[in-house]
Amino acid sequence: MQEKEFDEVYRWKEIAMIFQGSMNTLDPVFSIENQMKEILKAHKIKDGGTYDSTIKKALAAVGLDPEKVTKRYPHELSGGMKQRVVIANSLLLEPSILIADEPTTALDVISQSQIIALLKKMKDTKKMGIIIITHDLSLIPSLVDKVVIMYAGQAVEISDIKTILNSPLHPYTQALIKSIPRINSVKKPIQFILGNTPNLLNIKQGCRFRDRCPQAFGMCEKDPPDIDIEGNLVKCWLYENKIKLQKTKQISDI
Ligand code: SF4
Repeated sequence: MQEKEFDEVYRWKEIAMIFQGSMNTLDPVFSIENQMKEILKAHKIKDGGTYDSTIKKALAAVGLDPEKVTKRYPHELSGGMKQRVVIANSLLLEPSILIADEPTTALDVISQSQIIALLKKMKDTKKMGIIIITHDLSLIPSLVDKVVIMYAGQAVEISDIKTILNSPLHPYTQALIKSIPRINSVKKPIQFILGNTPNLLNIKQGCRFRDRCPQAFGMCEKDPPDIDIEGNLVKCWLYENKIKLQKTKQISDI
């Protein structure tokens, strides 16, 4: 696709993105209102001329009072408010898909939970698809339906959120879940994943997690396949017998 077509049809109109640390991307010398107007002008949106109603609607949708925010400059807002303004910017053109990269980084826990609740509300009320990229699994249970667990540049598990939280398939996902601090962490110590991630400039054949995997065995020297477990996908040799069962089933089906 040509850049021009992508700009005219998709960028911000169909797919919008909240970048990591994006609250720091607000321009310090423009008021919030002027920054939002600039986006609408750049995308040639026509709403009668002043853009006021579109800006007010987007700010109200993220729980900000437009009367109090539009004339202010970024330094006059708290971190949570700035992040809401960035989310409001992404809503201006009413996209179908919103990609949020670490949208709660650098926010206090109260603002974090408010932003997650806001994203959930947008997903439910605006029927917007949300792809959230995060290092913090504890943030997302109420927000997402499906989770892709990445390790060393590969998707190692793609499962529904219930499987991820209650019976994770991949040893890396299992270790991630065990490392989430719980309210009773004093009685049950947090478990850490030993070792380091591999050097991505020098990736060897085989499972990328094998140097850190407590369940590694001989077969792990080869690249593991993606194995379908009741609609979820896992990249791990521990489930090799399921491939055999699937093959047997396919043959008997024929
Ligand atoms: S393929 Fe082997 S090393 Fe990799 S996660 Fe599975 S058991 Fe562990």
